[in-house]
Amino acid sequence: MEPRPRIAALAPYPLADLGVPGAAQLSQNESAFGPSEAAMTAAAAAMRDARFYPDPDWTDLRRAIAERHGIDPAGILCGAGSMELIAALGAVYAGPDAPIATHAHAYPFYAVVAAMRGAPLATAPERDLTADPDTLAAACGPETRLVLLANPGNPTGTRLTSAAVRALREALPAGALLVIDEAYGEFSDEPPVWDLVARGDVCVLRSFSKAHALAGMRCGWGLFPPAVAAELRKVLNTNNVSAPAQAACAASMRDVAGLEDRVQRTLAIAERAAARLSAAGLRAALPFANFVLAEVGDAPDAEAALRSAGVLVRGTASAGLPRHLRITVGTKAQTDRAVDLLIARAAAPAA
Ligand SMILES: *Cc1c(COP(=O)(O)O)cnc(C)c1O
Repeated sequence: MEPRPRIAALAPYPLADLGVPGAAQLSQNESAFGPSEAAMTAAAAAMRDARFYPDPDWTDLRRAIAERHGIDPAGILCGAGSMELIAALGAVYAGPDAPIATHAHAYPFYAVVAAMRGAPLATAPERDLTADPDTLAAACGPETRLVLLANPGNPTGTRLTSAAVRALREALPAGALLVIDEAYGEFSDEPPVWDLVARGDVCVLRSFSKAHALAGMRCGWGLFPPAVAAELRKVLNTNNVSAPAQAACAASMRDVAGLEDRVQRTLAIAERAAARLSAAGLRAALPFANFVLAEVGDAPDAEAALRSAGVLVRGTASAGLPRHLRITVGTKAQTDRAVDLLIARAAAPAA
């Protein structure tokens, strides 16, 4: 069987290193803290009706999201993870004659979406490991149909201000849809940009996988202009979010205090890690995310050293950062240990 050449040319999916029993799993950007109790209770209750297909309109989940964020439920679509929504955007808007633009150290999945659609992918240089509105606009041509911005970024953990995002939209070609992927939006200190969606050429994506600590439920959502939502609906799997996931996510959305607590505890550990790494010369910016990016030099060697010490972190070469490692925030003890190991390694004379 011959796969399509553009798929055959993709690198094999790098399986997450989950195979070390007892290891600290700091490579997947999962939450160090558990989900909302209310979410767990709601998911368990939803199992009673698991013989039925889930609500294809995500009615109660959309209501919970809309109430929490002060947005119109009619513009919300949910996906089996925000990845499903990103892939669907690619299916609707990208192709050989409809390029995608993104930034140099963006989420590697964007390149997979471009390859799946045979869409040319322009990657704009970043400035200080932060997406740059000027280069991003310059990377677009009149044919560009999708501009994918991870804000805050993964694996960089940096973010554009909301003012810079607004300026970016002004600088983009009229025919390009700006997709603002806010998978880490809850960790950002910037005001929301939901109002941009009303322009008709912007959408904003969020996820339940990171700050909501529900990665295993596979649920993400976005706010879309009506015309974009109508096209996306055609290609989304009809019953894409399971009933327990919808129930859990709605309950988590209503547990505002629980979310805030998780975010604050996560950021406190992240800040401590970034400060210690920076003090040791391993450049690490204060992140707006549940992970820290550190410049460690020989990243494959450092990653292997941590793995043999029982700490799994993620190399970032696939995001164009071969000298960095991304360390997900774990418990304070796990994170301290990862940082201790990196600092000790940096202090030791090269073997
Ligand atoms: C984790 C992540 C996603 C995917 O989230 P899911 O909702 O789990 O599919 C999307 N974008 C970025 C930048 C991410 O880091």
